[in-house]
Amino acid sequence: QLSPRVTDMNDQGSDGWEVFARARAMVEQGIPVTELTIGEHDIRTAPAILDAMHAAAHAGHTGYATVPGITPLRQAIATRVTQRTGVPTKVENVLVTPGGQAALFAAHLTTLQPGDAALYVDPYYVTYPGTLRACSARPVAIPTTAENSFFPTKGALDTAAQTPGAKTLLINTPNNPTGTIYPRAVLENIAQTCRDHDLWLISDEVYDTQTWEGDHLSPRALPGMAERTIVIGSMSKSHAMTGSRIGWIFAPPHVIEALSDLAVSTTYGVPGYIQDAALYALTQGPDLEQEIAEPFRRRRALALDVLARQGTVGVIPSQGAMYLMLDIRKTGLSGQDFANRLLDSHHIAVMPGESFGISAAGHLRIALTVNDDRLLVALETLCTFAQS
Ligand code: PLP
Repeated sequence: QLSPRVTDMNDQGSDGWEVFARARAMVEQGIPVTELTIGEHDIRTAPAILDAMHAAAHAGHTGYATVPGITPLRQAIATRVTQRTGVPTKVENVLVTPGGQAALFAAHLTTLQPGDAALYVDPYYVTYPGTLRACSARPVAIPTTAENSFFPTKGALDTAAQTPGAKTLLINTPNNPTGTIYPRAVLENIAQTCRDHDLWLISDEVYDTQTWEGDHLSPRALPGMAERTIVIGSMSKSHAMTGSRIGWIFAPPHVIEALSDLAVSTTYGVPGYIQDAALYALTQGPDLEQEIAEPFRRRRALALDVLARQGTVGVIPSQGAMYLMLDIRKTGLSGQDFANRLLDSHHIAVMPGESFGISAAGHLRIALTVNDDRLLVALETLCTFAQS
């Protein structure tokens, strides 16, 4: 008998990943598919970062590494966030993790007790409910509406916060899957709810460099929030390093100490040569980050242009992240039906909104992860298909 903590993790209630799996199967059979499904860059890690990794490995940094992370890297991460957010951050506030997902898991395991209620906003990044279940918590979704750009309202936040045993609130900005950036007013409501109901705020900011309109504000910078906010960061998207598994957590020092103890018993940290490469990448400053974000900025503009010209599908106003959320409710089809039919008839794979919870039913998420020409053709085809 296996533990339900793990076997019940992914009770999605629907086959939200069916389209993705079918697209992959078609590709394996040699059928060309335009895949606009998952958030994997079509660009690779910069050669200079790979050179730094290679040099570090050859210099012998292949043994066990320091668990909270090597100090120069923690310092570089702390400096970066202090510059970006204005929140004074020291080495003691930083833990280096093997990617954002491991950080999400560690942050929840460290703050939740079995049976606690863990709140998260719907639509959500697919691993969220499973991560919360694996921590033996009760996931509580906060519903949103397309009409409100999928931002949680103060009323919905407070209702969820009144759930008995509520302990944590998980948010994500810039947002996957919606492509929005939470405005200050929404973040102030979130902060107020956390303070009023004594909740930890877990703020997933892995898309912090993908900001196309307006600025990303970290809720850790709001009054009284630094002591109750745990920020999740990652170099997967900012530096096209998805496979290197490198990310971080910012939290008060006592939380970092607890997380560090947990890391000793789980991941035992991040390989030294990856940490050295990360240090190299971060000391290149924001120019490299902007260069990596640039294709997504351009493609988002192209995509919005095509969608506006065609006028057959709606789009949720987007400000950041490498995704767009399309509204296909006028077609009368569910996201699932639309995506399945689009895949069968035109070999274009998109994610149904239903894969990300109930709030985004009748929507599609597209990842801007193919080159400009393919993206244009795919979107024009999608719009014509919606019309028909
Ligand atoms: N959080 C969000 C919102 C994501 O979209 C992703 C990956 O797509 C992650 C966390 C995990 O990223 P990683 O574990 O690669 O750092």
